[in-house]
Amino acid sequence: MELLIDSYGRRIKSMRISITDKCNFRCTYCMPAEGLPWLKKAEILSYEEIERISRVAVAIGIEQIRLTGGEPLVRRDVPDLVRMLRKIDGLRSLSLTTNGILLKQQAGPLAEAGLTRINVSLDSLVREKFSQLTRRDQLQRVLEGLEELEKHPSIHPIKVNAVAIKGYSEEEALEFVRLARRKAYVMRWIEFMPLDADQIWRKEDILTGAELKAIIEAEYGPLVPITTGDPSETARRYTFSDGIGEVGFINPVSEPFCATCDRIRLTADGQLRTCLFATEETDLRAVLRSDANDEAIAQTIRQAVWNKELKHHIGDKRFKRANRSMSMIGG
Ligand code: SAM
Ligand code: SF4
Repeated sequence: MELLIDSYGRRIKSMRISITDKCNFRCTYCMPAEGLPWLKKAEILSYEEIERISRVAVAIGIEQIRLTGGEPLVRRDVPDLVRMLRKIDGLRSLSLTTNGILLKQQAGPLAEAGLTRINVSLDSLVREKFSQLTRRDQLQRVLEGLEELEKHPSIHPIKVNAVAIKGYSEEEALEFVRLARRKAYVMRWIEFMPLDADQIWRKEDILTGAELKAIIEAEYGPLVPITTGDPSETARRYTFSDGIGEVGFINPVSEPFCATCDRIRLTADGQLRTCLFATEETDLRAVLRSDANDEAIAQTIRQAVWNKELKHHIGDKRFKRANRSMSMIGG
């Protein structure tokens, strides 16, 4: 089998698939308050189309798929899609990124369908702060969703992801650590990136992983690194001296990991993106909806991967904003 390799020699193994551009939250670092012009139904890939692209992609080297959005769980029958993708031979990992609000109802059906990994985004444990950031007063439902997940141990680990924002995230860092140690959630912070639709991002807003680590170490002492030997791991992972709990820092701005990036992304409307910050896409939907056979789809993916961008340019003069914001790309 010819594997997916780009022109810089990076082996591509992971595909994030956005299944909808819609969302029931309006996080200030992602979407405008009024939402965005939504895609039309006909523009969005059907589950059958997503399954076909996934099957072809796995046959040529993709090993991990993560479903995302928008908010993936606002699309109907996501467990059906999970069931379809689980059957693909060679797929090693299938996961989902969600804001958690629909998990109370959906965790059971997702577990039953065979989902085994999940990331729940949660930026604050304080009701007012949560409402301000997401523009929705729904903290309690997200916490209930997390509790529901705990009843389904086949979905493991439960990762909780917070966007780290200067002046916002510091005061709750230790509260999140306590939650992660009490509940055995893996807690991770990701640096704020210039992918917000409102373009409010400023470099002064970045709270780095190193700064958060220092806050945690001031309370708990030196964190103990967890090493897996996987070079494409995006998070710097740590446990505590007593071995209880895990935290991680994803530092795309202060410590870019482009050199070991193994990811591509498929948008809800079937555009293949080879970098979060890409300004161009490959129209895989057009190929799919022509008479193309699987080999033509595979060849289109190989070609796009070959042209994968070297790196993002956040912080240098060449930086250009991506042609879409985060909810349209699929984070
Ligand atoms: N709606 C789902 C959710 O929030 O988990 C999935 C899609 S969301 C775009 C995926 C992830 O991107 C979330 O963890 C979110 O916090 C993160 N995200 C969104 N905008 C971001 C930004 N400007 N910088 C860093 N992370 C961002
Ligand atoms: Fe929706 Fe996720 Fe974007 Fe928040 S981060 S607005 S939950 S897509």
